[in-house]
Amino acid sequence: MLSARALSPGAPLQILDAPLPRPQSGQVLVQVKACGVCRTDLHIMDGEIPACRYPVTPGHEVVGIVHEGGTRFARGARIGIPWLAWTCGQCEYCTSGRENLCERACFTGCHVDGGYAEYVVADERYCLALPERYGDAEAAPLLCAGLIGYRCYGFAGAAQRIGLYGFGAAAHVLAQVARADGRRVFAFTRGGDSAGQRFALECGAHWAGGADEMPPQPLDAAIIFAPVGALVPQALRAVKKGGRVICGGIHMSDIPSFPYAWLWGEREIVSVANLTRADGERFMSVAARLPIRTAVRTYRLEQANEALGDLRAGRLSGAAVLVPGG
Ligand SMILES: [Zn+2]
Ligand SMILES: [Zn+2]
Repeated sequence: MLSARALSPGAPLQILDAPLPRPQSGQVLVQVKACGVCRTDLHIMDGEIPACRYPVTPGHEVVGIVHEGGTRFARGARIGIPWLAWTCGQCEYCTSGRENLCERACFTGCHVDGGYAEYVVADERYCLALPERYGDAEAAPLLCAGLIGYRCYGFAGAAQRIGLYGFGAAAHVLAQVARADGRRVFAFTRGGDSAGQRFALECGAHWAGGADEMPPQPLDAAIIFAPVGALVPQALRAVKKGGRVICGGIHMSDIPSFPYAWLWGEREIVSVANLTRADGERFMSVAARLPIRTAVRTYRLEQANEALGDLRAGRLSGAAVLVPGG
């Protein structure tokens, strides 16, 4: 089977012919129909995720068909494979409803091979059933961009005015969910990115501007999806007293120092890490209920490096998705 492998940090992916993986007990062998391209995959390629194992096949937004193995899903069923691949079930985090923080967690496309391939194996307990209303490519971005965005949204609590910094795959899904909940979304893009700002407004944002601008009204919460540490003090200045700044990325450049006065007033900064299986179930039921429009650009598996290059350069509106044989 064809797979796109990260052999070592700092090198482009290699398109290789690899043997078909064999499912062990409790695992399913899945034929990949679509796999989303996430910013985390760039961090893995660049060697910025210290726990990552090389060589590894990236890809943790996998939509595919159960080919064999396992007992939970019927053969031929369409399932999703997300970032969380395995947890120990025994550590203090696993036993307190926070398996996303498990001390020994394994992640798809990081510790175990992911979906930049024609086939992948996965522990069936961590796979998700997918709402039927989405096509394969359209469902892929729900599995990380959608899911992590939704977990961040939970950290925003009852915030009515929510800022989203970095308007890519995660924000374009979350803007639609928040809008359907009656919240107001303020979208922040790279300065001068008028196409990105137009896209944000199309996705339901109430206002869109550059990341260096102040919103027309103070925000109750801000979620940062862009991997830019300088946005943390920027977002703190945009939230009102008691407001929260939520960092949704797995990696960020250093946060510059800033005056304590910007944090004063019980403002908070938190990070959101990974996801739990319960997050996955909750978000998929939201996605089944709401007609979320995912903007995708599809690439053949052999074009994985091109897709990653477009993501890195900010050339995408929405999400890149690899389609094996497409
Ligand atoms: Zn654990
Ligand atoms: Zn991701």
